[in-house]
Amino acid sequence: MAEQTHQFAGPVPKVVLTDPALADDKNPRVLAKFKNLEHSLDILSRLAMGDQSALTEVGVATTGQYNTQLHEWAIGRDRGNRTDCYLIAGGPGEVNWTHPVLTGLASIGHSHPFAAADRKAFVPNTGPLVLPTLTTWKATSAEQAIPMMPGDLWYLFPSNQDVSAAYLGDFERPEVVYSPYRLAPDGRLSRTQGGALMVKYGPVKATLSQRADALIKDSAMDANAPGGAAAIESVILSMYWCEVEFFAANKSILTGFMKCPPKRGTQLVEFAWFHQEGIPATAMTRSQCHAYIKRVKG
Ligand SMILES: [Zn+2]
Repeated sequence: MAEQTHQFAGPVPKVVLTDPALADDKNPRVLAKFKNLEHSLDILSRLAMGDQSALTEVGVATTGQYNTQLHEWAIGRDRGNRTDCYLIAGGPGEVNWTHPVLTGLASIGHSHPFAAADRKAFVPNTGPLVLPTLTTWKATSAEQAIPMMPGDLWYLFPSNQDVSAAYLGDFERPEVVYSPYRLAPDGRLSRTQGGALMVKYGPVKATLSQRADALIKDSAMDANAPGGAAAIESVILSMYWCEVEFFAANKSILTGFMKCPPKRGTQLVEFAWFHQEGIPATAMTRSQCHAYIKRVKG
């Protein structure tokens, strides 16, 4: 399943942002066009930090104050010319890339909002030391999941949904998530001081369950029918894997690996792990997985 290459239809409609709560309707809005990827990512970073002036700078009108940290933002690149980039206002918890207004755009990066209600534990100026904590965690905490990290450190990571979307979308390139946090000069996680913290992750690969070959052979699905390989895949995936690289003020500060299981049914708690072991040699991209299924099915 190669990436689609049809072009974004455009043009960018005129939107006046009134209330961030309107993002609750989960409909993404395309707001501005960029000729330059770097510029678009700079704007995305500033919006993640709560800098409303970034909107004015790119010609997006607001009525009064607009808290840019209440919903996600994303940069989409035109799949046709692979040059033009667009600023997208997403929903409170995700950017719905399957929505028709985003047809022709590929996700390059997105921001995570700051949901104050989820983060009572975070006390400004006494946040965790970012690098020492992540480094220790990477080396020693193989059994402890990312959501158990102290302070709000785990909000620096891509969500399980982000990792899953990158695998399922068969992205051949990494994605970037901009957090609402900064690295303060004293090395602590901060909301007000220091350079923006972001993480690059992917491409995402998957390992298969030990019973994968038997499950593929026993499946009643036709691997070559539309949706057939995907249906078989959904019962044999074991774990998603990707490299993660953290940046502060666009400077690389730490690399490691992340793994998380695919979402199964309606489970509420999702676990993911940060570690230093690499990606298993048996891990495969989605196109490789579908080719594998067809080969085993015969
Ligand atoms: Zn995300």
